[in-house]
Amino acid sequence: MVAWNKEKSPGAVIVTGASRGIGAAIARLAGAHGFPVAVNFASAEAAAQEVVSQIVAAGGRAIAVQGDVAREEDVIRLFETAARELGPLQGLVNNAGITGGLARVEAVNAEMLTHMLAVNVAGTILCAREAVRRMSQRHGGTGGAIVNISSLAARTGGTGEWVHYAASKGAINSFTIGLAREVASEGIRVNAVAPGLIDTDLHATSGAPDRVERLSPTVPMQRAGTVDEVAEGVLWLLSPAASYTTGTILEIGGGR
Ligand code: NAP
Repeated sequence: MVAWNKEKSPGAVIVTGASRGIGAAIARLAGAHGFPVAVNFASAEAAAQEVVSQIVAAGGRAIAVQGDVAREEDVIRLFETAARELGPLQGLVNNAGITGGLARVEAVNAEMLTHMLAVNVAGTILCAREAVRRMSQRHGGTGGAIVNISSLAARTGGTGEWVHYAASKGAINSFTIGLAREVASEGIRVNAVAPGLIDTDLHATSGAPDRVERLSPTVPMQRAGTVDEVAEGVLWLLSPAASYTTGTILEIGGGR
């Protein structure tokens, strides 16, 4: 699939929110491709350690690093730890994200909105800042790639369920395009993957345990996607095979 440069060992990749779901699948696939991986988590330490064990058992290298991406000091510590333990950075996957729960706009409140935007938007931007400071040729780095996890909801709007969350992912799309152009001449590519309905815990923790089953028939492919199907797209964007691809939003949504 991927034209990896086998003569040079790849630099480290940080995957935020990698203790489960899509992030865990990305971390496992990155490890299988030879990237040393920093498996970030907010609170699920045992689950993150299990992802590390799976990567190591498959012959890869990984560490688990706690850090809430909404907290600037945690983000800085995450990047410092990854640099110290895994070496120079080659990639960042901004995957950590929350929905804030199911709610029509008339029912949202400031506390939920502020927290959701801090994780999804500010967290993504702060992590990207740290990655650019390390990878940009303008700062003495050797380049790299950033992949932001958006959502198809940014295009469809999340109507009746989570318009607030869809709007946060719209911000991720704008950020992806803008940052891609800002650092394109500095050796960094920036892209997004926008998954559709993916079978993870996110739906249950958002208050809709039956959401995947209920909505699967509305997807043109008649099913939810798997975390591994999303991870494949992310790894392609991280890889040299995507060397002329930047500022792109890759939708992985079964035709939605
Ligand atoms: P998930 O199963 O709920 O997993 C979320 C992950 O993010 C967990 O590892 C969690 O770690 C971590 N996390 C949450 N808040 C964090 C924070 N403040 N700092 C660091 N890590 C944090 O979610 P998922 O379905 O895999 O979703 C992953 C990404 O894909 C999200 O950005 C989501 O918006 C996006 N997405 C998902 C779908 C879908 O259908 N599932 C569709 C489109 C887009 P802890 O367990 O330690 O809290």
